[in-house]
Amino acid sequence: MALMTGQQYIESIRNLHMQVYLLGEKVESPVDNPILRPSLNSVRMTYDLAQKPEYQELMTALSPFTGERVNRFNHIHESTEDLMNKVKMQRLLGQQTGACFQRCVGMDAFNAEYSTTFEVDKKYGTHYHENFKKFITYCQKNDLTVDGAMTDPKGDRSRAPHAQTDPDQFLHVVERRPDGIVVRGAKAHQTGALNSHEIIVMPTIAMSPEDKDYAVSFAVPMNTKGILMIIGRQSCDTRKLEGSEIDVGNSEFGGVEALTIFNDVFVPNDRIFLNGETEFTGMLVERFAGYHRQSYGGCKVGVGDVLIGAAAVAADYNGVPKASHIKDKLIEMTHLNETLFSCGIACSAMGHPTESGNYIIDLLLANVCKQNITRFPYEIVRLAEDISGGLMVTAPSEKDLRDPELGPYVEKYFKAVDNVPTENRLRIMRLVENIALGTAAVGYRTESMHGAGSPQAQRIMIARQGNLEQKKELAKKIAHVKE
Ligand code: SF4
Ligand code: FE
Repeated sequence: MALMTGQQYIESIRNLHMQVYLLGEKVESPVDNPILRPSLNSVRMTYDLAQKPEYQELMTALSPFTGERVNRFNHIHESTEDLMNKVKMQRLLGQQTGACFQRCVGMDAFNAEYSTTFEVDKKYGTHYHENFKKFITYCQKNDLTVDGAMTDPKGDRSRAPHAQTDPDQFLHVVERRPDGIVVRGAKAHQTGALNSHEIIVMPTIAMSPEDKDYAVSFAVPMNTKGILMIIGRQSCDTRKLEGSEIDVGNSEFGGVEALTIFNDVFVPNDRIFLNGETEFTGMLVERFAGYHRQSYGGCKVGVGDVLIGAAAVAADYNGVPKASHIKDKLIEMTHLNETLFSCGIACSAMGHPTESGNYIIDLLLANVCKQNITRFPYEIVRLAEDISGGLMVTAPSEKDLRDPELGPYVEKYFKAVDNVPTENRLRIMRLVENIALGTAAVGYRTESMHGAGSPQAQRIMIARQGNLEQKKELAKKIAHVKE
């Protein structure tokens, strides 16, 4: 079963019986929960598209481990073309879902682990790379969705992991046994953990030798004893309980995040990828973050395409598609969006092989990519709101539209151009609202700011990778400065 169908994927998640809590209650069947289901549908799309012959090149790749075609989300990049195809695939998924499709964190963790475990083994003679290859082969064979978990709660930001008042603020080893380790802690903001079969845990920062117990990386199934998830709230999430398709803006797709708690979880030896080698934590973090900063040059661009389209349709429906300022705003949105895509493609095209043989992006360009993502989607949203008009936040509900007495008023007073039904206009307004302020805004706006690291994290990397000394030399040479 190298490639699951979407339906098989849904059933496989249903059978996992994970510990999930939402709005203070245990969710017995997350797959059927109206707030959670749209996020599952987004991941499902990564399976459905992989089944289609026209997307085979983009959505799948030939695995050197299994000899079969596997989903590209589970692929180890073997060329710069693979890196570019990854970004193109993410743009496609963003376009098809208008939401976060979650499976990228696993792909980015796979690729960061692949090269890092190789280098740890080389230095220490450990067997993490073999462990990891066995794990990814298993994931490829069974077409699993994997969460890549990095962000710890972090407690007091001025203190190292071992110096926290509460030792669990960073996930750590609490017991070492002959057959494995026991870990405790949590990973916050876990995109897609709910819809994953397995979770790869990584450290969240570069660590010093005192943090030995915190320098730990491993993978376990999401239904392992001791793991529980508390689902985060999203703006307007309970609209999904009202049964109104129009009011939710994007009724089919969404994304979801969870606080994922590890209460003394056992990890067997062959699932451990790092265990105390603190000097490699920085490498793992930097590589995972680099790959995920590249990812945003695909997924956010795809959702941006949907938003630009929605703004243009809103202009058509409002009767102003020919106004020169509207046209110019749509050009500006397109320019910004394609600039982001250019960054995603550029850091991929400039990628190079690691010591282990898999390909990594150009880290400077990947960080520039994500730094732009912390800004441009905000401007794109601003322009979409400008074009759409205030109705995107003041429109009456679908219930009013369907009401025999109120409906005719809604129809009459929110009608714009003659040939467009009011209902269509309301649908587009709600879609803009959803991406700008609603549940999809988590994935499009605030995640653009903080996902894959907050802006300052990229600026530190840009400072480190920017090679200012070389630039100074260039200037001195041209100015014939002799010191
Ligand atoms: Fe993938 Fe984007 Fe969601 Fe990250 S934010 S998991 S890159 S869709
Ligand atoms: Fe993300």
